[in-house]
Amino acid sequence: MAAYLPDTRRAAPLCCSYVLKKEYYMYQSFLIKYAEIGVKGKNRYLFEEALVKQIKYALKKAEGEFSVRRTDGRIYVDALSEFDFDETVENLKRVFGISGICPVVYVEDEGFEKLGQAVVKYMADVYQDRNKSFKVAARRARKNYPLTSMEINVELGGVILDAYPEMHVDVHGPDILLHVEIRDKICLYSEVIPGPGGMPVGTGGKAMLLLSGGIDSPVAGWMIAKRGVKIDAVYFHAPPYTSERAKQKVVDLAKKVAAYAGPVWLHVINFTDIQLYIYDKCPHDELTIIMRRYMMRIAEHIAKETECLGLITGESIGQVASQTMASLAATNEVCTMPVYRPLIGFDKMEIVDIAEKIDSYETSILPYEDCCTIFVAKHPVTKPNLNVIKRHEQNLQEGIEELVAKALETDEVIVVQA
Ligand code: ATP
Ligand code: MG
Repeated sequence: MAAYLPDTRRAAPLCCSYVLKKEYYMYQSFLIKYAEIGVKGKNRYLFEEALVKQIKYALKKAEGEFSVRRTDGRIYVDALSEFDFDETVENLKRVFGISGICPVVYVEDEGFEKLGQAVVKYMADVYQDRNKSFKVAARRARKNYPLTSMEINVELGGVILDAYPEMHVDVHGPDILLHVEIRDKICLYSEVIPGPGGMPVGTGGKAMLLLSGGIDSPVAGWMIAKRGVKIDAVYFHAPPYTSERAKQKVVDLAKKVAAYAGPVWLHVINFTDIQLYIYDKCPHDELTIIMRRYMMRIAEHIAKETECLGLITGESIGQVASQTMASLAATNEVCTMPVYRPLIGFDKMEIVDIAEKIDSYETSILPYEDCCTIFVAKHPVTKPNLNVIKRHEQNLQEGIEELVAKALETDEVIVVQA
């Protein structure tokens, strides 16, 4: 990180009289690079607009005022006030659709000599160790600039070499690729901080995440949000078997997802009576599967009412008895909507790595019980026979519909924001 940070972490406002004064010399803008959006043809502007919207939303949480603008197929985040560099970058790193964040220094066009001075200053401030190779890559968006791009490259290269004889030019694989873009103002940038990739949230419709207090489901939600999908969530709560603290843990996990996905509408459903009824009427080794089938049915009901286009779970083949291929088939059978299981082929350690990266892991491992652990059988079926399961679900015929309707009435919606 140190490489991006000149002496002070306070950044200057977008006021170019400050640019060459040492005490204010700092980045004034970020050029946002995006990858996949670029291939969307005629719909490209929709993706760009969604990205701008998500960037604005993410920056609301940061100190400082910004203007986010789209020009010539690029997005710039200009600082209109002082801002905290680290905090701003951290927020931008959570905006799906961004592949790179380039901190930019603006230079007023006051002649080539001034530009040379600004470039020399830029190199000194950004790179403490200048024992490096470089290349200047100029681009003239404003064609009335007196020098051609090639001339700018050569001339500025000379200025840099004069100022820093320890540096050398390498046009094929330079350590530093200094971009000089001639627009109304001149943009200098050379650093690219990686963004999260993916697509802007909101471009891919909405899906309902079954969010438990575990490690997997927040990661699953994050992965689908990464592809541009807005996330709503449902949590099956079983008081008094599950505590208020367990519910709070799920709210906190939804917050972790919301840090990337934007506000999450979390539906909390009281599932206790359904669980007790199944416990009473069905063989205990099939309890988890039958319970999971009811979770999916209820989740799908809410998903349809809230215009979601699919369900998301944190299931992964073979992780537990209820996630063998046969169990997944039995659970899936009650759904008519697509069920997205982005972790299906992941090992636990791979899931934990992502959970750590998105900062949900520490919350997930808090020890509060979740509703499934209370009712788990010692030897749950691992190869459920669907016909047998369906036959046993007949035992529930008398009361289950009413219990499902009552559970749906308990729906408590919590709008969770990061
Ligand atoms: P997680 O997958 O979140 O770590 P888990 O490993 O305990 O939880 P299971 O209990 O097998 O997983 O559940 C598999 C999936 O079912 C979860 O990933 C989640 O999507 C969903 N799920 C399980 N319990 C609940 C619950 N109480 N509320 C909402 N969804 C749930
Ligand atoms: Mg799991």
